[in-house]
Amino acid sequence: VSDAAVDPAVHRIAIPTPFMVGRVNCWLVEDEPLTLVDCGPNSGRALDELEVGLAALGHRVEDLQRIVLTHQHVDHIGLAAVLARRSGAEVCALAALAPVLEDHAAAAEADDELAERIMRRHGVDGDLVTALRAVARAYRGWGGSVHVDRRLADGETLAFANRAWTVQHRPGHSPSDTLFWDAERGMLIAGDHLIGHISSNPLLQRSLTGDADGKDRPHALLAYLASLRATRELPARIVLPGHGDPVTGHAALIDDRFELHAKRARRILRLIRERPRTAHEIARELWGDVAISQAFLTLSEVLGHADLLLERGAVVERLERDVARFYPA
Ligand SMILES: [Zn+2]
Repeated sequence: VSDAAVDPAVHRIAIPTPFMVGRVNCWLVEDEPLTLVDCGPNSGRALDELEVGLAALGHRVEDLQRIVLTHQHVDHIGLAAVLARRSGAEVCALAALAPVLEDHAAAAEADDELAERIMRRHGVDGDLVTALRAVARAYRGWGGSVHVDRRLADGETLAFANRAWTVQHRPGHSPSDTLFWDAERGMLIAGDHLIGHISSNPLLQRSLTGDADGKDRPHALLAYLASLRATRELPARIVLPGHGDPVTGHAALIDDRFELHAKRARRILRLIRERPRTAHEIARELWGDVAISQAFLTLSEVLGHADLLLERGAVVERLERDVARFYPA
């Protein structure tokens, strides 16, 4: 891994997930305390590969002293409770995320309820909504509850014997995206906030503070773009992402992402100008059958870009018989 040039004490262990994204990166930091950033999904195979990866670096699960979590998604947190129990490691996560992590089933159920409400409102067929809810429930087992020992605040310092990371809350991909910034080395641990080979999905999930639930939908893409603007300002030499290879030239990559989202918003605006459409109709136009199997993911994408267009005053959203349609302004 080329990141050794920046920090030879940081190692990538990429372990398998059942998700389309493929392997997830766990970052082992050989410092005091011995730290693992992210854990992989809750599966025997993931645990087995993590143990092999740790052994190749001369460590065991029992040696871990600290576990740091970048965000709430199951491919990053699933094994946390198992690893913490076996090692006694202190689990560190954003304070506002702790209640979600400590009752994973309840949080997942509430997120699924929100997803169902958003899907129905934005034109997804009722039978499909019911089927997808069952799929979501089946995936829940890849996650699991974990007790948070240390609740991190945005801006605080997470200290080690030989380094210090600044905690940065940068929501968007998920409400809890947390970056860890090593200013001395110009190294940013980014989770899924910035990934080299794919654009991060601004997934619609409940806000950590609970406000806006039940009324409006979350505005994940708007939050994400604001977070990216903040990240772009960091003098980062290298970004260690949650999936794929380390990223250099993060500012150029972020500019590419801005362009991608602007282009997608323009394309969606053209579709709405052709005729008023629901977000699900737009998703089917853009992604075909994927908009069915991944109805909520693609809906999150469309609604994120619809928010950009709404903000600009280019479109309006109208509710007719409980289904929302977008019209040109
Ligand atoms: Zn991920």
